[in-house]
Amino acid sequence: MLTVPKLNSVTLHYFENCVGCAACAPSCPYFYVDERYSPVEKAEFLREMLRAKYTLAGRLFGRFVGARMPKSEDEMWKILEFAYRCTNCGHCYVTCPFGIDSGAMVRLLRQALYSTGIAPTLMKQFAGFEGSGQYLQHPSVKAMWEAFMTEVAKLGAPVDKKGARVLLMISVMDVVLLKDTVLNTIKILKKVGEDFTIPSRPLGVRPPIGAVVGDPAAQKTAIEDVVKYAESISPQILVTIDGGFVYPNLRFEATNLLRRKFSFKVYHITELLAEYLREGKLKLKKTGAKVTWHDPCQLGRRAGVFEEPREVLKAFTDYRDLPHNRANSLCCGGGDGINCLTKEMHMAMGKLLGMDIWGMLSAREKEFVEKSEDAYKKAIRRKMDDVKKSGAEVVVTACPVGIETIRLGTQLYGVNAKVVHIVDLVAEALE
Ligand code: SF4
Ligand code: SF4
Repeated sequence: MLTVPKLNSVTLHYFENCVGCAACAPSCPYFYVDERYSPVEKAEFLREMLRAKYTLAGRLFGRFVGARMPKSEDEMWKILEFAYRCTNCGHCYVTCPFGIDSGAMVRLLRQALYSTGIAPTLMKQFAGFEGSGQYLQHPSVKAMWEAFMTEVAKLGAPVDKKGARVLLMISVMDVVLLKDTVLNTIKILKKVGEDFTIPSRPLGVRPPIGAVVGDPAAQKTAIEDVVKYAESISPQILVTIDGGFVYPNLRFEATNLLRRKFSFKVYHITELLAEYLREGKLKLKKTGAKVTWHDPCQLGRRAGVFEEPREVLKAFTDYRDLPHNRANSLCCGGGDGINCLTKEMHMAMGKLLGMDIWGMLSAREKEFVEKSEDAYKKAIRRKMDDVKKSGAEVVVTACPVGIETIRLGTQLYGVNAKVVHIVDLVAEALE
């Protein structure tokens, strides 16, 4: 049965105070794919459900007052298209004169759909795989982690060290997508003489995937697992190299979800690098490279880390901002799982899990994925125009999805720029 999310004071404001002015529309990467995907239009699907459930007029007069509960699976699949044309980038939130976060509404819309079992199969699989802890027993994950730990051992990184100042959090996806970046992070931590440790097992697949797909139970268990492990070894700082949804979830949402404070702080690696630079521990050779920073939506707009990466890059490169930057940065178009909605990603992830995930999809879902892939490729274009205008030769960022998406964009739209994680650029310039 479809469960309509409960209202609290914040969501009540998002529900009641939109005046339909559409000032948020131009901020949304998917508005440029199709005007039906503007933030207010997408959030309206949730508002219709909220009116039907929580207002007297909605209960009495239904669709005459814009109140509607989807009645059939077909209707919910139609809504799914809109729920997956949002990267939760938060740009609509900063442009709305009333501070309405349509991205947050779309996430709740995903939760409502998920309560009936409707969500992209690949993302459902990964949320369940992570939430249940099954990933730790999976043969492919175990083999990949063992190979990774062999490389780590050559660098002499401490493992599960109790009381180390810094715990470098490493998830399955960090190893799949950013293995060299993890190794480079370890090299930097050693070079600056940090007292650090790494975990002897992956901490989540990319926790918490449940937040993205609308599965709050999987979200909570994935976060609990990371916090429990971290508290068992008592670091002062847990540091992520992932600047996507992992960071704001661990830094801000985790304490709300678990209803308590933790014994450690959460940093993104850029915050630590900036700290090392200020303390004179990080020494970097200057390069003439024309470099720009893409603010990952989650690290920037959602978590306020704007200046630290710039501080680091300005110390050793020919730095320039993108025309749209900081809170006004343009989303790459791939966040909140949207970059998973390609046939190629289904094949690659199916291979990792030893399952034919593409073969599991119904004809209707295959059509949904193909349409989503097309929309995703169109949504990248706006970011590429910004990169071209900046004149940068290197786009630096810290979100694995941003890296994949902007790389794809350079190929699709003929932009001559490399895309790298900030750690890799810093590692190259170490003195
Ligand atoms: S969400 Fe804000 S900007 Fe968008 S239509 Fe509503 S009031 Fe206007
Ligand atoms: S959060 Fe970003 S992608 Fe989602 S509706 Fe708002 S602007 Fe569009």
